[in-house]
Amino acid sequence: MNDLSQPAIKLPIAPQKYVDENIAVFRGVVKKYNMDGYQFTAIKDANCAIPRGEITYVYGPSGSGKTTFLNMLSMLDKPDAGEISLLGKDVLTMSDNEAADFRSRHIGFIFQSFNLIPVLSVRENVEFPLLRHGLSRKERREKAEHYLEAVGLKDYLGRRLGAISGGQRQRVAIARALVTTPSLVIADEPTANLDSATSDEIMNLMLEMRRKFDTSFVICTHNENLLRDTGRLIHIVDGELQDIGGLQ
Ligand code: ADP
Ligand code: MG
Repeated sequence: MNDLSQPAIKLPIAPQKYVDENIAVFRGVVKKYNMDGYQFTAIKDANCAIPRGEITYVYGPSGSGKTTFLNMLSMLDKPDAGEISLLGKDVLTMSDNEAADFRSRHIGFIFQSFNLIPVLSVRENVEFPLLRHGLSRKERREKAEHYLEAVGLKDYLGRRLGAISGGQRQRVAIARALVTTPSLVIADEPTANLDSATSDEIMNLMLEMRRKFDTSFVICTHNENLLRDTGRLIHIVDGELQDIGGLQ
C-alpha cells in the first residue's frame, strides 16, 4: 500500500487558475470494450459539457453506459477516441501519476455501496482522504468534524459504521467526498441501496451541499423520481448521450 501520510506529488497547476464555466467538456468521445473477440461500443460519440457549480444528472437505464461515462470523467478509464477536458486541462495527456494526484485534489466520489472503511469510526472515515494532503492531525480532525456537522452527523463522530443506518453511512460518504474541497463530486447511483424516503433525503442533502459549498455534482441514476428540477440533465440510452440542459 502507498504511504498515504506522505504529501502527494505537486502538480504544476494551481486550482485557482481554473476559471472556465465548465468543469468538464467531452468532444466526440467513444469508448469500446473488447468482449470475447468482438468490440462493443459502450459510449458512442459523446458530446457534452458539465457546468461549474451545478448538479448534472446522468440519467438512463441499467447498462446504458453511465458508469463507463463516469469512469472517463474521473480519468479512471481512457476513451478510444475524442477529447476530454477537466478543469481546463486535457486529461488524455496526463500521466497515470498526474491523473491520480489530480483526482485526489479535485474530485470527490460517492458510491452506491458507500465504500467506507468498516474498522474506522465515522470521523476517521472522513479524515482518511486528507492523509494525502499534508495536514496536521488537528487540522484533519477539524475539517472532518466541520463536514460531518454539515451532513447532520455531529453527534455520531466516534460511532463505528456498524452502529449507523444506511442513510447515515451515505451521509458519511458525502462528508468524505467534500472534505478535500473538490471542484467536482461524482456520485454513481448513490441511493440504489437505500429505501425511497432515505433516497429523497440523500438527493436533497446533495442539493444543499452544492449550495453550501459551491461544489459541482455529477449524479448518475436510473431512477427518474430522484431528478430534481434545479439540476441539468444528460440522458443516456444505449451509449448515446443527449445533453438536455436545464430541467426547469
Ligand atoms: P450503467 O452504469 O448505465 O449500468 P455501464 O457503463 O456499467 O452501464 O455499462 C454499459 C455497457 O458496457 C453494458 O452493456 C455493460 O455490460 C458493458 N460493460 C461495462 N463495463 C464493461 C467491461 N469492463 N467489459 C466489457 N463490457 C463492459
Ligand atoms: Mg453503473
